Formats: sequence, structure tokens, C-alpha cells
Amino acid sequence: ALTADYIRSHIRTVPDWPAPGVQFRDITPLLQNPKVFRVLIDEFVHRWFDLKPDAVAGLDARGFILGAVVAYELNVGFVPIRKKGKLPYTTVEESYELEYGSATVEMHTDAVKPGDRVVLIDDLIATGGTMTAGLRLLQKLGAEVIEGAAIVDLPELGGSRRIRDAGLPLFTLVDYD
Ligand code: IMP
Repeated sequence: ALTADYIRSHIRTVPDWPAPGVQFRDITPLLQNPKVFRVLIDEFVHRWFDLKPDAVAGLDARGFILGAVVAYELNVGFVPIRKKGKLPYTTVEESYELEYGSATVEMHTDAVKPGDRVVLIDDLIATGGTMTAGLRLLQKLGAEVIEGAAIVDLPELGGSRRIRDAGLPLFTLVDYD
């Protein structure tokens, strides 16, 4: 709880961004402060050290920042799951519904192998659409996704429940109502 409060105290809330009525939870102050950045990364590294995943997958774009550092510390590879149209090689893709319209994420077809044990990370869970799309992508290639993780959960939006209902255990550090 001390660690959660310490991390929470370095998350900035920006009202009415990117749209009126939205309270955006901005994690850049966490990255900016070397002491709190290390505490944050160590939470994920310690969580997964004994599980020894084969890879860390990160969701575009803040999941790249966290996931790459965690992968480096665990001495495993990093897999980027990108917004559609950015990856050069052959890809698999998954679409999901947004409040208005839809979004698509992609991963390279050789990014994981069948049976690989993978953890999946992003900065924040809102509706859970992004993480469940990432889960389906990894499963499409036969990976076993052992846990999802994020810094922030917005439980009232139901995303963490949807992710767990989809069969993915989820680890988060800070909740906002
Ligand atoms: P979801 O797919 O609805 O769960 O939305 C989560 C995705 O949107 C993640 O990739 C987040 O980075 C991004 N996101 C949504 N709301 C916020 C926020 O308040 N702060 C930071 N990222 C957010």
C-alpha cells in the first residue's frame, strides 16, 4: 500500500483531456523521476521474476516504455503490439470496439512461438478493449498469456473485470474511481 500510494502520488490528473469531461491519468511524472521509475519497474520485475516468462509484450505506446525495461531486467525479449499500419513484416491483427468506431492492433507473425509464456503490459486499463485485443493476438499465435498488468485500473469502466472474465489474470498497482 505504501508503494501504491508513492506511485499514485506521481500520477498527474489532467481534466478535460483529450475531450471535455475526461480525467486523463498521466504517467509521465512517474517516468521523469528516476527513483519512482525504478520503484515502479521493480514492482513488475519482482512480480514476474520467479515466473520466468519467455517474453514481455507491450501495448502501443506507453506499454512499450514499461515493457521494454521490464523485459531487459528479466533478461527476456520484448514484443511490441502496435496500432495498425506500423509494422513492416507479415502481421496478425485484432479489432475491437471503441465508444465511437473501432481500433485495430497488430503483431508480427513470428513475434512469439506456440507455447511461449508471455506477460502483457500497458499503462492503464479503461474499458479493457486494448488489452483483450492484445490477449487474442498472442493467443492466435499459440502463446500462453500468463498475466496482464498495468499501472492504473479504472474499475468503474469494467475493463479489469472483462479482462479477468476473458481468462487473463490481471495485476494493477493503482485504482481510480
Ligand atoms: P481501454 O482499451 O479502453 O482499456 O483503454 C486503455 C488504453 O487507452 C491504454 O492503451 C491507455 O494507454 C489508453 N488510455 C485510456 N485512458 C487513459 C488515461 O486516462 N491515461 C492514460 N492512458 C489512457
